[in-house]
Amino acid sequence: MRIILLGVQGSGKSTQGNLLSKVFNVPYLSTGHIFRQLAKEDTPLGQEIKEIMTKGFLIPDDKTLEIVKDYLTRPEYKTGFILDGYPRNISQAESFPTSIDKIVYINVSDQEARRRIEGRNSNKDQIRPDDTPEAITRRINIFHKFTKPLLEYYKNKGVLVEVNGEQSVDEIHKEIVNKIQK
Ligand code: AMP
Repeated sequence: MRIILLGVQGSGKSTQGNLLSKVFNVPYLSTGHIFRQLAKEDTPLGQEIKEIMTKGFLIPDDKTLEIVKDYLTRPEYKTGFILDGYPRNISQAESFPTSIDKIVYINVSDQEARRRIEGRNSNKDQIRPDDTPEAITRRINIFHKFTKPLLEYYKNKGVLVEVNGEQSVDEIHKEIVNKIQK
């Protein structure tokens, strides 16, 4: 099973991705997590990624695609994956290296997304350098401008599933599983 999760930051993609990984027995993979690890490296690439991420911008498509391809061709992703964070725009979707079974859009309002990200900030263990008010606004704006057009793109391909992200974790999970298995 190859599933992609779409949703604004704070929509609960990583929580739902980890739950889906257990149900479908395929690994969960997050490009944001990969980039956060790379940003810790004291290399020119690590420093460049850190600078871009901290401001809330997207990493350039060519670099992103190279990294995603490198991961998805690894043996553990051969039978499938739950991918969170890619694609972020039409160009990334067009370059996607494999076929996809379902795209799950977790729909939450901007206000709710912001409330959750700010709540995450009150827990020091979860604090992220791109959770400043300025970077949060930029990330939400980028989501609307570049990522949301993917909904129409995947709807036309007949693989889009949309769920209400403003329910309990368990309710969202059940809605996703039901809609995927339909
Ligand atoms: P996320 O954890 O998915 O919110 O991603 C955190 C940050 O990682 C984003 O704000 C971008 O800077 C970078 N990032 C993650 N995925 C992508 C992608 N597919 N394309 C470009 N940048 C990305």
